[in-house]
Amino acid sequence: MGLTGIDIFKQLPKTNCRECGFPTCLAFAMKLAQKQASLDQCPYVSEEAKAALAGASAPPIKLVTIGAGDRKLEIGNETVLFRHEETFYHPAGLAVLVDASQPEADMAEQVAAIGEVGFDRVGQRLRLDAVALRGEGEAFVSAARIVAEKSAVPVILINEDPAVMGQAVAAYAGKRPLIYAATAANVAEMAGLAKEHACPLAIRGDGLASLAELSEKAQAAGAADLILDSGARTTAQVLADQTAIRRAALRKRFRPLGFPTITFTTAADTAEETLQAATYLAKYAGLVVLQHMQPWQLLALMTVRQNVYTDPQKPIQIEEGLYQVGSPDENSPVLVTTNFSLTYFTVEGDVEASRVPSWVVVVNTDGTSVLTAWAAEKFTAEVIAKKVRDFDVGSKVKHRKLVIPGYVAVLSGKLEDELAQEWKVIVGPRESSGIPSFLRSYQQT
Ligand code: SF4
Repeated sequence: MGLTGIDIFKQLPKTNCRECGFPTCLAFAMKLAQKQASLDQCPYVSEEAKAALAGASAPPIKLVTIGAGDRKLEIGNETVLFRHEETFYHPAGLAVLVDASQPEADMAEQVAAIGEVGFDRVGQRLRLDAVALRGEGEAFVSAARIVAEKSAVPVILINEDPAVMGQAVAAYAGKRPLIYAATAANVAEMAGLAKEHACPLAIRGDGLASLAELSEKAQAAGAADLILDSGARTTAQVLADQTAIRRAALRKRFRPLGFPTITFTTAADTAEETLQAATYLAKYAGLVVLQHMQPWQLLALMTVRQNVYTDPQKPIQIEEGLYQVGSPDENSPVLVTTNFSLTYFTVEGDVEASRVPSWVVVVNTDGTSVLTAWAAEKFTAEVIAKKVRDFDVGSKVKHRKLVIPGYVAVLSGKLEDELAQEWKVIVGPRESSGIPSFLRSYQQT
């Protein structure tokens, strides 16, 4: 738990001089506790108090950055065990293993594919986040140099020989690759490399006790940004360790385990691997390293991740308005839906699939779906009629036909009344998946 306002107040000068912009030291302390002010706003805090407050107010799980530039990956800084308590802030990274011993052309092709693959879902671009390069000796060093040049995404360098890692990491000036891994056998040298090159360092223990011990050693040797690997490789043990690490960091504020984690899938079968990775995404991996990158499995995993890391209290929503799907004209159908992103983009996809260009009236229902919005009286005949007028839908089409979702068929009569009987309300399909066949037959009416 973070410091309370009273805890912070005890460390302040208590002169109520107002120079921080707050009327009293107590008011300032309360704002600090709510993270709505920063300690440097008070010019009179003693060095001793600064040290005490900075240490105690540090996040229980450190935010660690891998890579640099537009595609840098930030993981950690989570504050809750369950997303409904608040939200999860930094989506876990998905990386794919690349074998350093393969022919250069194949490796370059795979690295390019990792940087490029992506899917659009509910208005967001879902992508892979890192290349995990694994190899030995000279082949690893030369592959690391090639990947440093070609990769658009951050790189995880996997090799446990500090001499080899030293040569590889030298090709990544300013790019912050993740060095994997410091173990009991090499922690001082690997931590030294991480410090020298200002890179994050993964540490791999043999269970949680040895992981905590390694963490302290790595930090003492100057590695500030750690990523934790408990060493587990079976699904059940990884899940147990991830949960224990998250609990230790949040509930006990156990500093050695207050860092994001890395996990590796081990299942050879891609379906089983996908289940393993989905488990790790749900609880509580910071990074998941995959062996395969089949499009179907990536879409499934990225969808899981998107759902886990969506704020449950703030549904993803789009702006209300009159949208065009394709190039509709004055004869095109007009459909009505809500501004919940998942609803809108599903409708949009199904209208596209129908190949019937259409207008879509998107009503602001605070990001709720059709039935939820109707039950909450945010998707009523009055509201829809007002939006049809506000968006001047009548000026876009010659006809006067409005298609409403089948789930709110009950609104049709009232909506025609609200629209002064100028529009005919047609009840569309209940499910969006029914839109293509509906629109194709609708066009012929
Ligand atoms: Fe108190 Fe510092 Fe604010 Fe002055 S500037 S009121 S001492 S917290």
